[in-house]
Amino acid sequence: MTRLSIFDPEETVTVTPLRTFPVIRDLVTDVSYNYEKAKQVPTFAPEPRQPDGTYRMQQEDVERGQEFRKCIECYLCQTVCHVVRDHEDNKTAFAGPRFFLRYAELEMHPLETNDHREAASAEAGVGMCNITKCCTEVCPEGIKITDNAIIPVKERVADRKYDPLVWLGSKIFRRSSDT
Ligand code: SF4
Ligand code: SF4
Repeated sequence: MTRLSIFDPEETVTVTPLRTFPVIRDLVTDVSYNYEKAKQVPTFAPEPRQPDGTYRMQQEDVERGQEFRKCIECYLCQTVCHVVRDHEDNKTAFAGPRFFLRYAELEMHPLETNDHREAASAEAGVGMCNITKCCTEVCPEGIKITDNAIIPVKERVADRKYDPLVWLGSKIFRRSSDT
């Protein structure tokens, strides 16, 4: 997102390919990692329509999802994220900021019927993010990835993990399954 007009015409400008993904040629990289991660995101499962055939949501819920859907899949956020940029071996366990937007949208959607907190934690690896906000800084669409998507998902995952009622329920369920 840097305008060339800010440089001195004599200055040398260096352009490099996205570093996190394998280079195919020149500036072209193989971003298939992202398509594999996209396939792992659960689909939207809304509750049944109202008796008059419509869905109803509050305007603020509509706007929250609209921010996330501004993503143009440039993958700049994915390439600057140090979790995969510096650690190739993390790629299997970490979906990356672009896909945390998808988990956040599902998890905060008022019509969604499934609970995605376990998937966001176990499959997408949201716990590996340490909120450095590099992804937010580079997003050309100005999406507040860390504040509006990642932190709310992390909070919801933590609520589930440390909620005493959830803990008690899991113990009772496990005991009754054992017996
Ligand atoms: S805030 Fe999290 S997801 Fe974003 S770049 Fe930093 S570690 Fe990666
Ligand atoms: S940087 Fe922004 S627009 Fe690009 S993939 Fe990430 S969220 Fe989407």
